[in-house]
Amino acid sequence: MNMNNVAFPVTASHSVITVNNPFDGTQVGTVVNMPAERAESLIDIARDGAKVARALPRHERARILETCAVLVERDKEAFAALIVDEAGKTLKQAQKEVLRCVNTLKLSADEARRNGGEVVPFDSYVGSEGRQGWFTREPLGVIVAITPYNDPLNLVAHKLGPAIAGGNSVVLKPSELAPLSAIKLVDYLNIAGLPPNVISIATGGPALGEALVSARDVRMISFTGGFVTGEKIARTAGLKKLAMDLGGNAPVIVMDDCDLEDAVESCVSGAYWAAGQNCIGTQRILVHARIYDAFRERFVALTQALKVGNPALPDTDVGPMITTQAARRTEDIVSDAIRQGAKLLCGNVRDDSVYAPTVLENVSFHCDLWTQEIFSPVVVLQKIDSIDEALDLANLPAYSLHAGIFTRDLEIALKAADRLEAGGVMINDSSDYRFDAMPFGGFKYGSLGREGVRFAYEDMTQPKVVCIRKTGR
Ligand code: NAD
Repeated sequence: MNMNNVAFPVTASHSVITVNNPFDGTQVGTVVNMPAERAESLIDIARDGAKVARALPRHERARILETCAVLVERDKEAFAALIVDEAGKTLKQAQKEVLRCVNTLKLSADEARRNGGEVVPFDSYVGSEGRQGWFTREPLGVIVAITPYNDPLNLVAHKLGPAIAGGNSVVLKPSELAPLSAIKLVDYLNIAGLPPNVISIATGGPALGEALVSARDVRMISFTGGFVTGEKIARTAGLKKLAMDLGGNAPVIVMDDCDLEDAVESCVSGAYWAAGQNCIGTQRILVHARIYDAFRERFVALTQALKVGNPALPDTDVGPMITTQAARRTEDIVSDAIRQGAKLLCGNVRDDSVYAPTVLENVSFHCDLWTQEIFSPVVVLQKIDSIDEALDLANLPAYSLHAGIFTRDLEIALKAADRLEAGGVMINDSSDYRFDAMPFGGFKYGSLGREGVRFAYEDMTQPKVVCIRKTGR
């Protein structure tokens, strides 16, 4: 797996990026650190690849995706081990991500077969009688896909699968922190029969990403990552389609009529999955005053019972953060909230990159912990007296992805579904639920477009109308 790059074989003169295990710092692999100047040749390759991809019949696109799904499923343990090694997810979490990747590839194959266009009913309004026609879904051409470290396999599949299904070529720039799962997935697509040049991998850092984003022949940037990067990309891209899958700060409301034990267990899982490095991870829990004390006691007890540490061990619940620097940033944000009056209920202990699951209450609504995405195993508890108060507080941050509510009251559940400003509202579940076929994306600041295979496929294709005028001769 080292140094192998589809687009750019390494020579002695190239610098490399070392990929380290976030838990113990051991070297997992190395990839070429491509300089920004390589962007041009990668786009040239993708331009050729776009012609090849477009010419692939839909059944062939579907066959490649399905074959790849079968191969990934066959080698699921190897993929899971790699995710553990390079991203620090626990084994259970990595295994789940691999199975989701298999689904994403299968869903993409379905889309290649199914979503070819529609008949346009020209005579449905006055003025277009005597015409018949349809629209097809045509490829866009060259797509640049840029991905983060936290789901290093399935988030890549969410870009490559729909792009291939739609007949596009892709230059993929995976996170420099965890690029190896992406490279392995592209290897498997090639083994499954994907022709050369359809997917190229750009291994490198922000400078390479920026050069790819600014290239004129790119028709779409599909980005998943943080707000700061998203804003930079939007400034650099120029006239290109943008898909922006950015961060969250998910609220979950817990009403007093819910199944308390179920709500606590779901919220614990939602808060600490992937050590909180999860865009739909539960960050703020708003609990009705009548059950607040009972919820807090049980939530803290289950948090303290989590097994934290080596992600490769089968019984570990919470692994490391991606880097020691990321864990230090979390410590700083939590310490700042405590200085501003927050009460620490447990956690805020760090051992290198491992940050213990942390619970706070009485957090000021002005703290970063309340307003920003913390992307860490940290949770804020907030007492609320009514559903209206909960909804107002839940909606305070300027951006959002998912939200959740626990209640048995249908009226309250539907009110929350209506009023929560989020791309997805989970009822009787934490914010941390996603099915790879559903539309997935954020509300409010920054989010553009939706992933979820059908929705990404539609974003990555363009309709072409064909209209036949009957001459009547
Ligand atoms: P990041 O923004 O730091 O990096 C993401 C990617 O962008 C990396 O490949 C990086 O090299 C690249 N990049 C950095 N600067 C760039 C530039 N100027 N031009 C082009 N590319 C550039 O994000 P991260 O820390 O890897 O991931 C965490 C973030 O991703 C969190 O905010 C999280 O919420 C978000 N995320 C969102 C979703 C979603 O689907 N909405 C899913 C997972 C993660």
